[in-house]
Amino acid sequence: TTEHGPAELILIGILKPWDPLNFNNIELKSTAVVQRHHKLAAASAILFCGILFTPILLNLVFYGLLRYRFMLSHSLMSTSNLIYAAFWSGIIFPVFPSIDIMQRSTVDHLFVSLGICAGAFLVRDLCGREVLGRKFSFALTLSGCLQLASAVIAILISPALPYYASQVYHLFFFVPFVMTVSAIIYAITRGNRLAIFQLIGWSGIIFYAGCRMLRGVGVYVSNDLVDFSFLPALVFETLMTSLIVAFRIYQLHTELRSASDELEEVREMADTDHLTGLLNRRAFARKFEARVVHPERREGVQAIFVIDIDHFKRVNDTLGHDAGDRALVQISLLLEQQCRGGDLCARFGGEEFVLLMHAPTEAGILACAERLRRNVEANRFGDSRYPIGRLTISMGIVFVPDSPITLRELYACADAALYRSKNEGRNKITVAPPFDHHNANLRPATRTSAKRQSV
Ligand code: GH3
Ligand code: MG
Ligand code: MG
Repeated sequence: TTEHGPAELILIGILKPWDPLNFNNIELKSTAVVQRHHKLAAASAILFCGILFTPILLNLVFYGLLRYRFMLSHSLMSTSNLIYAAFWSGIIFPVFPSIDIMQRSTVDHLFVSLGICAGAFLVRDLCGREVLGRKFSFALTLSGCLQLASAVIAILISPALPYYASQVYHLFFFVPFVMTVSAIIYAITRGNRLAIFQLIGWSGIIFYAGCRMLRGVGVYVSNDLVDFSFLPALVFETLMTSLIVAFRIYQLHTELRSASDELEEVREMADTDHLTGLLNRRAFARKFEARVVHPERREGVQAIFVIDIDHFKRVNDTLGHDAGDRALVQISLLLEQQCRGGDLCARFGGEEFVLLMHAPTEAGILACAERLRRNVEANRFGDSRYPIGRLTISMGIVFVPDSPITLRELYACADAALYRSKNEGRNKITVAPPFDHHNANLRPATRTSAKRQSV
């Protein structure tokens, strides 16, 4: 008792604080102060352990879907902090009353080390190797692992060692801690805005760890505010880190979506003929596979049209290549007009077009082909700059048989029929005879001798 009433706090200094068997400071507190602190510590510990479950669960569930590595480091850090907080604060005692103070201290030291190590991994994974560089990322990993290894070795040599050698032990934290904070600051200087929030999240821990490390090397820092600021600092860091992790997932998801949009665009470009916007040969072959070789259902009749513009060279020769291109675009529009859902329309190269058409009957297919031929015949091509005038097309048609067949086989038959249309004076449609698998290998002979029907 002092002249002002009962003492609340008595500080006792120790001579030779560098002797590891001496505590470098001892505090005597009144029961009232201790109880007040205990209530505060228990409340923040329970709050902290409670909120830690959410990021751990969310990370583990969504890691299964997203596979971002920072989610694993985040889970490892949160789990270590959870175990550390449960032991350090003593809220583990009601659950496991048989644990003694040395076991508690060992678990404390092990998991605070694991938490610091995982914290270094998390900063490494969140900032990314492209921002930190390979060497810095490796140094972060190494410092975290070495610090954890030193804690494990210290515990294995003697569970009491970290307890007695706490001055030296706290120095183990120094390297990964400084590395982690430097990595965050380095990422900020490289323009990583997310790292600013990491620094804010870490601010409480940085303050606390600074005080603990000073104490570890014998500088007397004793302040209730410092001691009991640790859990609130961890709570704040956990909340901030969870927000950062959620935002990083959002960022990556947005990047992924725009990358897949770009991929879709590139895929479409790769499938499209650049002049007419029709399918190219590769895309036609792929879609043909899906519609003819492995159709979901087959209804009515399907046919391949191979179409070639008559005397097209003349357009180029008289009006130039640009005029020829214009005619190709106009013809492609007429072809597309005749296509309905499920039909395919491609430019196979030059002035040759290939269509996959369907209709309820063979007569329907032939009527469609005839309409196409007439539409082209009736159209005036070109414009005032390129007065191309009239053009005609020749066509070879083959009906798709029910038996298994390849595009190459069908194309060869329709091409032979087209050849016949050209020979018979152009502006004509020739239907190839029904596809015969036995004669397929003798196609050159078929091409000249088979009887074809002209419409
Ligand atoms: P035929 O009636 O026998 O088919 O006579 P044709 O003059 O059309 O002869 P052919 O089909 O062999 O000629 C194709 C011409 O198409 C040759 C080439 O100058 C032209 N051509 C090929 N690709 C393009 C292109 O992309 N743009 C333009 N403007 N012309 C092309
Ligand atoms: Mg031609
Ligand atoms: Mg040609």
